[in-house]
Amino acid sequence: MIDLRSDTVTTPSDGMRQAMYEAEVGDDVYGEDPTVNRLQERIADRLGTEAALFVPSGTMANQICLHVITDPGDEIVLERGAHIFNYESGAAGLLSGLQLHPVEGDQGLLAPEHVEAAIRPEMEVFPPTRVVSVENTANQAGGVVYPLDRIEAIAETAREHDLHLHLDGARLWNASAAHDVPEQDFAAPFDLTWVALSKGLGAPAGSVIAGPKPLIEDARRTRKRFGGGMRQAGILAAAGLYALTHHRPHLHEDHEKAQHLAETIDALPPFEIDLDRVETNIVIFKVTTDTAASVVDTLEAKGVQLTPFGPTTLRATTHRDVSMDDVETAATLLRKTFGAA
Ligand SMILES: *Cc1c(COP(=O)(O)O)cnc(C)c1O
Repeated sequence: MIDLRSDTVTTPSDGMRQAMYEAEVGDDVYGEDPTVNRLQERIADRLGTEAALFVPSGTMANQICLHVITDPGDEIVLERGAHIFNYESGAAGLLSGLQLHPVEGDQGLLAPEHVEAAIRPEMEVFPPTRVVSVENTANQAGGVVYPLDRIEAIAETAREHDLHLHLDGARLWNASAAHDVPEQDFAAPFDLTWVALSKGLGAPAGSVIAGPKPLIEDARRTRKRFGGGMRQAGILAAAGLYALTHHRPHLHEDHEKAQHLAETIDALPPFEIDLDRVETNIVIFKVTTDTAASVVDTLEAKGVQLTPFGPTTLRATTHRDVSMDDVETAATLLRKTFGAA
């Protein structure tokens, strides 16, 4: 099976398993796991922050970040497609008493004017706007990268209104690889940023929150409260360290695979795709003659898995565990099944 459902389906490489096997470990709730500490230092260094914190998942990373920069009743401005709004099971309301204010961006990306328009006047009837949350790359928009100047313009608007800035960097590695911008430049305007180890980087679990020391100390307590304190977590951190050294440099290959797939899809009559929006490892396209579910079923029966992303929208995601040869096999199958007779 060629699994293009998500970049989360990767399994640890042999070298990664070896690094996990050999990891030096301790009790991380005591702060005594040397491998976790090394990973946190390395991510802080990479993102240009004072400190960092290893957490079990990206969802927990988002929820901890929001929790430490808000009070209950505050409002968060984000794009309508945001993971926090769509795929976190209502956690921001449940865990932190937050209200989300989703706004329609420009093809899935926020611009300063969207943020400006969403900020509430300071009157007691309105929820206090507290945070602007940005997702880079923006998953639902097609893995599109926020250009650095757009990030800086959004940050300027947020700062003018005394708002906090939060970056969901589940795929920040992809953004950096695609635009050749260091991760720390993208992260610089944000109070808190987190990055995933378990998507493009191919580790089995874990994300890392980066920010100034006082916020990371608060995040540590919140992680405990949310049940995310782990003990000999160095086994997992070792996978992350390995991924940074050995997998991160190959990330652009996932983008080349996505390009190939996107160009194939573009040439097939039943499909519509905007090639300009395929910048990283995500390929979103529409089917005009059928439902997404039926296209998914047809392809799955022949050995290729995609994700239905709407009634007529599909998503294919490339990752380390599909090779360019696998993508060519999938492309051939698409041409055979959906090409003009
Ligand atoms: C996957 C993802 C998350 C959540 O990460 P998990 O590790 O699956 O909890 C958050 N934000 C974005 C943009 C994601 O793609």
